[in-house]
Amino acid sequence: MKRIAILGSTGSIGGSALSVAAAHPDQIKVVGLAAGHNVDRLVAQAERYRPTAIAMATEDGVAAVRSRLSAAAADSVALVGAGADGLRAVATHPDVDLVLCATSGTTALDAVFAAIEAGKTIALANKEVLVMAGGLVMEAARRRGVAVLPVDSEHNAIHQCLHGRPSRDVRRLILTASGGPFRQWSADRLPAVTPADALAHPTWRMGRKITVDSATLMNKGLEVIEASWLFDMPADRIDVVVHPQSVVHSLVELLDGSQIAQLGPTDMRLPIQYAFSYPDRWETALPPLDLAACGPLEFGRADTTRFPCLALAYRALRGSPALPVALNAANEVAVEAFLDQAIRFTEIPAIIAAALDDVETRHVASPTTLDEVRAVDTAARELSRGLVREVQSKP
Ligand code: MG
Repeated sequence: MKRIAILGSTGSIGGSALSVAAAHPDQIKVVGLAAGHNVDRLVAQAERYRPTAIAMATEDGVAAVRSRLSAAAADSVALVGAGADGLRAVATHPDVDLVLCATSGTTALDAVFAAIEAGKTIALANKEVLVMAGGLVMEAARRRGVAVLPVDSEHNAIHQCLHGRPSRDVRRLILTASGGPFRQWSADRLPAVTPADALAHPTWRMGRKITVDSATLMNKGLEVIEASWLFDMPADRIDVVVHPQSVVHSLVELLDGSQIAQLGPTDMRLPIQYAFSYPDRWETALPPLDLAACGPLEFGRADTTRFPCLALAYRALRGSPALPVALNAANEVAVEAFLDQAIRFTEIPAIIAAALDDVETRHVASPTTLDEVRAVDTAARELSRGLVREVQSKP
C-alpha cells in the first residue's frame, strides 16, 4: 500500500491522479490533498477519499472547506493547513510515502524540498521545480536517498526506457514534441496568433499556460532542462524530434545506436500510475494503444527559427544555472501578457531573450539557495513586466 499526498489535487493532473487512486484502492491510500482555491472540488475529493491532511492556499479557503465537510469526512481529517505552511505540512505528513507535486508554477518549491528532507518519494508533474532549482533538488534527493520520479509523459517515457541503465550506456535522450497547433503555420502568420488559436492543442488537454508553452515550443524547452537534471545529461545529449501524433512519448539512444522508445495512449493516468506503482507495474482498465488504428506516425525536426523559445531554453541550459530561472520567469510573465492580449505571440521569445541577456550582462551568480533562486526569479519578472509595458506603450 502506497500512501500518497497530492499537491495540486484540484488541477487536471491532480484529478487524473485521484482517478488512478480510485482504480487501485488496494494499492493507494490518499493521505493528503492540497489545493489552491477550488473549495467545491476539494470538498468533493475529501468526501470521497477521506484524507488525513488537507490544505488550501488561504485561511478563507480552509474555513470554507471546514464548514462544508460532512461530519464523517471532518472526522478523518486530522490536519488542516493554509498557505505555504499548509502545503509543507501535507507534503511532510508522517503517514505519507510519496508526494505527487502537481501544482503549477513555483508554489510548491519549498514543500518539495521539505518532502525530500523528510525522505518522501517525489513524483514530479511540475516543471518549474526542476527548471528553477534542478541542481538543488537533485542534490538534496541524492543526499537523502530519495527518488524523484517524473510524471511528465516524456520524462516518464525516458525513465521507462532507461530502466536503470547507467548513463554511460546512453548516447542521447530524444524527447518527442507534438509541435503544437502552429507546426505547419508559416512564419508570417505567427504574429497574428490569438490566445484562442494557441489554446487549441492538437493532442493533449492541459492548463492554459502549458498549452501556450506547447504552442511556442517553450514547453519542450523546459522539458529539455528538466531532462538534463533528472537524467544527469548535458544539453548536447538531449535532442527533440517533432512527432505530431504523440504516440511515441520519448526515446533513449544507447551507445550502440539502438533506440528504445515508449509508446502508449495520450492519457496522463498512465504516467501517473507508473510513478505510483514504480518499480512495479499495475494493471489498468484503460484501453491499450491500438497501433493498427493509429495511422501513419510522423517525425520531423523542430524549427527553432519559427519557434525560438526552444533555442532559448538550450541557451539557458548551456549557461549559468541562473539562466533557466530567468527563462522560466520571463516566460511566465510573457505568456500571461499574451493571454491578456497585451503582447503578440511572437513577442514572447523576445522578452525571454532580453531576460537572458540581462542575467549575462549583469553576471548574475549561480544561485546556491532557494532564496537566491527566488531573487533571480523576481528580478527577471520585474524586467519582463517592464518589457511588456514597453511593448504595450508602442502605437
Ligand atoms: Mg510533456
